[in-house]
Amino acid sequence: MKKTFPALFIVLVIVLASCKQTKTTESFTAMNTFMTVSVYSSSTKKGQSVCADIQNRIEELENILSTTLPTSDVYYINHNKKFPEKLKPELLEILKFSSIIYTKTDSAFNPALFPVIREWGFTTENYKVPSNQRIKELLLYTDYSALCDSEYAAGVPINEGMELDFGAVGKGYAADEAVKILQENDIKSALLDFGGNIQTIGRKPDGSLWRVGIKNPWTGNAACALNVESKAVVTSGGYERFFEDENGNRYIHIFDSKTGRPSESDLESVTIITSSGKYADCLSTALFVMGKTAAIEWWKANPDPDFDYILFTKNRELIYSAGIKDFIEPLYQFTSVEIVQR
Ligand code: AMP
Ligand code: MG
Repeated sequence: MKKTFPALFIVLVIVLASCKQTKTTESFTAMNTFMTVSVYSSSTKKGQSVCADIQNRIEELENILSTTLPTSDVYYINHNKKFPEKLKPELLEILKFSSIIYTKTDSAFNPALFPVIREWGFTTENYKVPSNQRIKELLLYTDYSALCDSEYAAGVPINEGMELDFGAVGKGYAADEAVKILQENDIKSALLDFGGNIQTIGRKPDGSLWRVGIKNPWTGNAACALNVESKAVVTSGGYERFFEDENGNRYIHIFDSKTGRPSESDLESVTIITSSGKYADCLSTALFVMGKTAAIEWWKANPDPDFDYILFTKNRELIYSAGIKDFIEPLYQFTSVEIVQR
């Protein structure tokens, strides 16, 4: 009996040592965003190699989706008004996915708003308020439904004047691709921070949930903490990018495709919580444009246990779906708190 204790102890130490997870964190800039990838793996070498694979994959996607890189596929479509000879499978997937979301959100998510967004100066930061006449002209080119039934085949033309921009879904798609790499490498615990897009993989190595802060638009601190596992937590907010005219009117980077103007949503930010990064990304943008009442209605009309939201309204109300009620912790004095049941 006396001898078994040290033997068991040694075995236990070996087992625990072999389970020990090393944290590797890498940061880089891609898709105009400062991105940080944190991976828990069996060794630093493995962690570094996984982080490098993720960075390479995201750069590959940027080379497909960028509106400004002359070598990108989206740039080719926008400048040649037709689909390229070899449409990359990633772009085909994004085109098809975007068609579904465009239709389901009644164009609140519209990846064909680029000509309008550029006219307002958001691509160059030379901001201006275009005339109503100019907005009306450009709106004619923003009908993404023209592409919804397309086969996106080589050489098929798109409408003259039409230009695409997957800025509202690209980072979410990139996060999904990063998750695939993590799964292929048997990583059970990781955190991706792509600006407003957070993606958690599994739980923290100690078994606890990830604690994600939702930015307070009025103070810059965290307005809520959310405990999650294996979820994307994606926020769209008017405070992220905007300009103001001489009268103090604020024009934000999220556009309403019905008006061709920056959204005048009654929401300050929308956070979507679901497993799919691309779904969270395009819906955070779409529900923001819809505004409080329509966003809540849309959520009710699209029942899915893997789909929750947090809304901060301009009146500083906090509204969230019942699915996260045990996982959210308000850290700010909101004017009211409402939990919405389906
Ligand atoms: P996000 O930060 O994910 O809400 O995406 C905002 C970006 O998507 C903007 O910077 C634009 O490039 C583009 N965008 C703006 N409004 C819309 C919209 N209604 N639908 C799709 N993309 C949009
Ligand atoms: Mg988005």
